Amino acid sequence: MKKLALHWKILIGMTLGIIWALLSSSLGWSAFTINWIDPFGTIFINLLKLIAVPLVLFSIIGGVANIGDPASLGRMGGKTLLIYLLTTVMAISLGLLLVNVIKPGKLIDEDSRIDNRINYEIWAASEGHEVKDGINYLQDPNLKDRVQEISKLSNAQLSEASVSDKIENVKNQEQVSPLQPLVDIVPENFVAALSNNGLMLQIIFFALFFGVCLLFIDNEKSQPVLNIVDGINEVFLKMVDLVMQAAPFFVFALLAGVVSKMAGNDIGKVIEIFKGLSWYSLTVLIGLLLMIFVVYPGILKLFVKKIPYLGFFKAMGPAQTLAFSTSSSAATLPVTMECVEQNLGVDKKVSSFVLPIGATVNMDGTSLYQAVAVIFLAQLHMIDLTFGQQLTIVITTTLASIGSAAVPSAGLVMLIVVLNSVGLNPAWIAIIFPVDRILDMFRTVVNVTGDSVVCSIIADGENMLHFEDIKDPSKTFDLD
Ligand code: ASP
Repeated sequence: MKKLALHWKILIGMTLGIIWALLSSSLGWSAFTINWIDPFGTIFINLLKLIAVPLVLFSIIGGVANIGDPASLGRMGGKTLLIYLLTTVMAISLGLLLVNVIKPGKLIDEDSRIDNRINYEIWAASEGHEVKDGINYLQDPNLKDRVQEISKLSNAQLSEASVSDKIENVKNQEQVSPLQPLVDIVPENFVAALSNNGLMLQIIFFALFFGVCLLFIDNEKSQPVLNIVDGINEVFLKMVDLVMQAAPFFVFALLAGVVSKMAGNDIGKVIEIFKGLSWYSLTVLIGLLLMIFVVYPGILKLFVKKIPYLGFFKAMGPAQTLAFSTSSSAATLPVTMECVEQNLGVDKKVSSFVLPIGATVNMDGTSLYQAVAVIFLAQLHMIDLTFGQQLTIVITTTLASIGSAAVPSAGLVMLIVVLNSVGLNPAWIAIIFPVDRILDMFRTVVNVTGDSVVCSIIADGENMLHFEDIKDPSKTFDLD
């Protein structure tokens, strides 16, 4: 009998997880699911993250040292950042187009929108701000408390410290130097950067630095270091293969946990969640699905002719299904790397640094969602944003998606920055919170897919894409 491909097994695991959660919530067993099944989902994410950080470190060092030429590294780096930026702006534009055409916020009944508008004006006045055409430039002293309240509500896996950091960043925007993001990339303490998953850019910086320096020392001395680095890389890849053997079971546990937390012991809650925000969710979903099934394949067809439509999905299936179930591009990274290298035929020299950078800064799904969310929230409060304000949204959304950590709900928290940039009330994130986890799953798939498409383009440009050599992508995670 032909063996079932891994992504099908993962899909079956996910479906069974959802069915289990719905059954257990209707039978009143949600607490059991959350206490005894959900922890395996957390173990899975921990395992993947555990592998991701050292894998990024060693694979970048190995990739750079194997390229052998700092100039081609610089050229590739420049191209990578430019294409990442272009795909992000493209995603935001698609989001803006859809939300301006569908107008999900205006499909809510007029009376409640008028109420919303009145509440908004009262809120703004109570903060002592002038409201001009519905826009109030926010200097909200209570912002921190409110967002903390929301984030507690959101169960968003964000520590209080990280929420207050984010808010402090928003409030201090004017005071810090514009070069601060650059300063943040250079770690003062390498061990501290390693011990915190959020500091992926610092790890990337260190690894690039280390790899480039390795190129400049004598072969006699650098070769043993490279051998060790390559050996360690192999061990981490084997770890990914091992963990992935159990992925179908782990995603069962993950999905069972996520849905049980949403539904509690009342299955009707899940339906309610969808009812209240159907048009908004639909607009985001249409945008995200268009990105996955139309925009990216279109880009591939234009720039990388050799990867066929279905071949791409077959190759990336394990990473996409995993992104969906974990809602974290960082946790998915080890698997994305393996799919891109072994199934699309991208040379490790390219993928080893294009993908970790992408997982950290390139979030097309998150930026599309943020653009739709801000306009929807404004429409819901009878506020029409001008063209200039929408342009501000494009810029801030690009920056916010770059700044979002690759973990669940990060996009929702960064929405505070975007709302703030056009003078809207950041506490509105509570309105869209109920459906956020579901949309997070889809936008993470877009984030991961976007990274792999850009990686294929760069590899093809460097003659380092060998899709024609791949015989059977479904074999990727087989242990030999
Ligand atoms: N969960 C997303 C990711 O990891 C980020 C977000 O949009 O919340 O890519």
